[in-house]
Amino acid sequence: MAKAVPVKNDKDELAGYMIFCPACECGHLFYTNHSNPKCNWIFDGNTEKPTFSPSMLVHQSACQPRCHSFVRNGQIQFLSDCTHKMAGQTVELPEI
Ligand SMILES: [Zn+2]
Repeated sequence: MAKAVPVKNDKDELAGYMIFCPACECGHLFYTNHSNPKCNWIFDGNTEKPTFSPSMLVHQSACQPRCHSFVRNGQIQFLSDCTHKMAGQTVELPEI
């Protein structure tokens, strides 16, 4: 079962891969095929136990906590600078 699923852009091309973040209770999108190479993550291609690098940083907003994480080998490691309850924890990624 997949923990990362491909997401297409408005041209029906691969944009990247979505994981479900159990802390934010929403998806986070790792771009792998963005037109700006600086926006892309490196993905190991394993949708069952995905690894992305570098880290994902989602800035705090009115409807979203700050969420800073590494996804490695199917687990998500939340760094201590997250503002949600799972800061500092490493947990299995849920299936998406
Ligand atoms: Zn998150």
